[in-house]
Amino acid sequence: MTFEVTILGSTAAVPLYNRHPTAQFVQYENTCLLFDCAEATQIQILKYKKKASKIDHIFISHLHGDHYFGLLGLLSSLSLQKRTDILHIYAHAGLAEILTVTFRHSHMNFTYPLEFHEIVPETEQVLFENDQILVRAFPLRHRIACHGFVVEEKQRQRKLIKEKMLVDFTIPEILALKNGENVLREDGTVLSVEYFTQHFEPRRYAFCTDTVYTESILPYISHANLLYHEATFLDDMTDYALMTGHSTARQAAEIAKKAQVKRLILGHFSIRYLNLEPFLSEARPIFPETYLASEGLSFEIKPSVW
Ligand SMILES: [Zn+2]
Ligand SMILES: [Zn+2]
Repeated sequence: MTFEVTILGSTAAVPLYNRHPTAQFVQYENTCLLFDCAEATQIQILKYKKKASKIDHIFISHLHGDHYFGLLGLLSSLSLQKRTDILHIYAHAGLAEILTVTFRHSHMNFTYPLEFHEIVPETEQVLFENDQILVRAFPLRHRIACHGFVVEEKQRQRKLIKEKMLVDFTIPEILALKNGENVLREDGTVLSVEYFTQHFEPRRYAFCTDTVYTESILPYISHANLLYHEATFLDDMTDYALMTGHSTARQAAEIAKKAQVKRLILGHFSIRYLNLEPFLSEARPIFPETYLASEGLSFEIKPSVW
């Protein structure tokens, strides 16, 4: 089961040559999600050979322009390409107003249905769910209403391996084996979980931007396989980060360590930093498994089996 995050934009509010504001293409098997949709996201999708037509769910963290100014262009292009599948957008209520006014004045006739799902400020919500994953929103602390998202893989049930079915199982035995427990029969026979497929530990990806350092997010991101956390500034600008509703590389690393995640991606870099190596130098002593977001870079979340 493919689970992969591709960075389409790594910078904060203003683009730089080769650095774009926030957007990420998240793929779980055949389900494609877009997290944020900054200016020129559709160009980035083309550049990195992703298919915009495969995206059925777009999640917008908050209504600062560097997180959604590319949405209107993308929606318009999908219509010009004659999309017919429903497209779901998850965002705070203001975005529905912005879209409605724009469509009214541009007389856009969409070829596909657009369904808007409101994210309610300061709440935790399950936004989307299918039989493989769910996407949960949780509140961040920023200058306006802002949410992080976590993609959670559902637990897959163990299945019996037919070739190994040498004995008849009772239903309670099957249930116990599916839960990973060996069964001891009265005659001393041990039924082992070997009769079943391997157990996969459910994987999780957490996306946190924009936000100040806040431990209130720990319950949502705890033990995630991969965490994206904004790091707009370096440590010498901690006060300014707090004032503008952002975090530093050191703070992102502290959060990753406290949440006991497996890997951390830093992003949303201020354009004042042309060299990003100091972000790694600051974060890695605290959380060694730290990486820099970079346009076109993909992070695969591999299954762990036990
Ligand atoms: Zn931002
Ligand atoms: Zn913002």
